[in-house]
Amino acid sequence: MDSRFYSRVCPGLIINIQRSNGQIHEAKVKTVRVDGTSVSVEWTEGSTLKGKEIDIEDVIAINPELLELPAADLKENFPFQENKQKRRSTLSKIPGPREAGRTRASKMNCVPEASVTNLNGNTEDHLLPGRISSVSPVRRRSNIVKEMEKMKNKREEKRAQISEIRTKRAQEFDSSCPNWEFAKMIKEFRATLDCQPISITDPIEEHRICVCVRKRPLNKQELQKKECDVITVPSKCVLLVHEPKQKVDLTKYLDTQTFRFDFSFDESSSNEMVYRFTARPLVETIFEGGKATCFAYGQTGSGKTHTMGGDFSGRTQNASKGIYAFVSQDVFLLLNQPRYRSQELEVYVTFFEIYNGKVFDLLNKKTKLRVLEDGKQQVQVVGLQERQVSSAEDVIRMIEMGTACRTSGQTFANASSSRSHACFQILLRRRGKLLGKFSLVDLAGNERGADTSSADRQTRMEGAEINKSLLALKECIRALGQNKSHTPFRESKLTQVLRDSFIGTNSRTCMIAMISPGMSSCEYTLNTLRYADRVKELSSHNGGGETQNQMETESEEMEGLSPQYNLCKDEEEELSPHMFSFREAMTQISEHEEKVVEQLKELKQRLATKLDYLLGITEQPDYDLETFVSTAKYFVEESSRNFLSVGETLDALGAAMQLEEQASRKMRRKRP
Ligand code: ADP
Ligand code: MG
Repeated sequence: MDSRFYSRVCPGLIINIQRSNGQIHEAKVKTVRVDGTSVSVEWTEGSTLKGKEIDIEDVIAINPELLELPAADLKENFPFQENKQKRRSTLSKIPGPREAGRTRASKMNCVPEASVTNLNGNTEDHLLPGRISSVSPVRRRSNIVKEMEKMKNKREEKRAQISEIRTKRAQEFDSSCPNWEFAKMIKEFRATLDCQPISITDPIEEHRICVCVRKRPLNKQELQKKECDVITVPSKCVLLVHEPKQKVDLTKYLDTQTFRFDFSFDESSSNEMVYRFTARPLVETIFEGGKATCFAYGQTGSGKTHTMGGDFSGRTQNASKGIYAFVSQDVFLLLNQPRYRSQELEVYVTFFEIYNGKVFDLLNKKTKLRVLEDGKQQVQVVGLQERQVSSAEDVIRMIEMGTACRTSGQTFANASSSRSHACFQILLRRRGKLLGKFSLVDLAGNERGADTSSADRQTRMEGAEINKSLLALKECIRALGQNKSHTPFRESKLTQVLRDSFIGTNSRTCMIAMISPGMSSCEYTLNTLRYADRVKELSSHNGGGETQNQMETESEEMEGLSPQYNLCKDEEEELSPHMFSFREAMTQISEHEEKVVEQLKELKQRLATKLDYLLGITEQPDYDLETFVSTAKYFVEESSRNFLSVGETLDALGAAMQLEEQASRKMRRKRP
């Protein structure tokens, strides 16, 4: 207990008390406990005298002024010391009793009392000054009112202080996050929005080309790093990117960009929900003899595999909760409906990966497959395993098998899955003849396109291949959206393999742009959205027609795919020739590479057959030596010619590799 307080509370002192009903009013101190823990007070209500015991803490809480008065003043008011007069003369600056009485708290207006047990436990006799008790009731009342007001102000002050502390604490919490100022701005921005995310009751719209966006939640690592979420999904079609920016004077501000798509899914959307509005409306297409495609596009780690292949529970992927499985389930559901049950339909699945322009069978130990195109532009993936399935469970087993095959032998640092496109197909056949096909593609990470600036050729080539295929894909979807007679499918293996899905009136497609919500992904997120926007923008402008598209320039094509391409646009003139030779060299490399492999395979086969034949001759007991010599000589000459031809292809491949090296070096030099 504050010793200052002891000497202030005395019997007869008028103090404020708070009743159990919250009401505050005055009461007179009757006695003060010897140990100083409580006081007893009394007051009159109507004609009844009432009283109660109050803890000293409560007295202080409600009468804080008792602590604030300087001891000297107090002694002025409570002159229980004999040398009062002396004091008064020495403390001449202290206002006289009357003024003091007027300016001081009403609680100091004590009524004289004979004997007091003070809080120090000493019994002292003091007469309380008659001058105070002689203050008029009107003045006393006004003092009480003032006092009550003062208390009210104090309470309000206290409340304001607490709320300030709370805000400060919130800020302290925020300020420990590296970008708390942006986080705060985004929070404030969101507070002005009435967000209405997509719901299961929203109508499912039919689009020939549907472009959607899905935002994944911040992951554990991002939360640990206190990454700032820069994406807001205010409604079922809109998505906002709050891009953090800084002015020249270092003022931070948000550049909020709005994107509109057919559907926009926020971090709370499940795979089922995404499926419902994206791939599900396309399932029936394949029963009607059409082709359907669904692409998951975006940066590595944005949720493509999660959406397509199934969500992860810990480290294991739940293949039954991805779009591959959902499509399969619905295919079997439809297949068992009366209208299709009698049609003798068979379901098959294929699962392959396109890596660096080469196709690998995921249902057959990653066997490398050849893609052939016949005179009628029919594309065939030679040897691709088609597995017949009779239930959704069968399909899930295939997905698991293919996924395991895809990721086998990968270290996290060298995961090729981010650099390859995975394509899962469900085929409907009627008595062997293809009726419809649904292709679901988990695309390579679009940020890999920027790898063309790598010092390592392998990475550079992968990057270039990814860029090429994603650009070609966009072109093919646009061609489909505008019913163009020409589909530029030859630009990449991906579009070549999917060629038949980009043509015909009964082909429908859906693209889901996946985005990571973190601030550090902002640049890639914007690139992803711009790419998706371009697909959508053109597909909704069906009137544009072929002429307009033929007018488009290379630089426009490059816009918004990867930072590299944005840069490309900026430095168009300087960079374009190198980029052109780089691309040219890349094409040559893959052509020559393919050729040399084919030549060697053919040579191996021919050599084996011819050698078997030659050696077979010598096995005969009476073989004709002359025939043998001439045949052998012919074989050697022919083989030499073949080897020379392989040598020429190898030279050409080497030259193309040098060209690529030079072009890429020049491109790198141009970059900051
Ligand atoms: P990508 O295939 O685009 O590289 P993944 O699908 O592998 O990305 O996702 C990266 C990580 O983020 C995974 O751990 C995955 O579980 C998680 N993830 C992705 N999307 C979601 C989501 N919508 N909800 C919860 N976690 C997600
Ligand atoms: Mg993936």
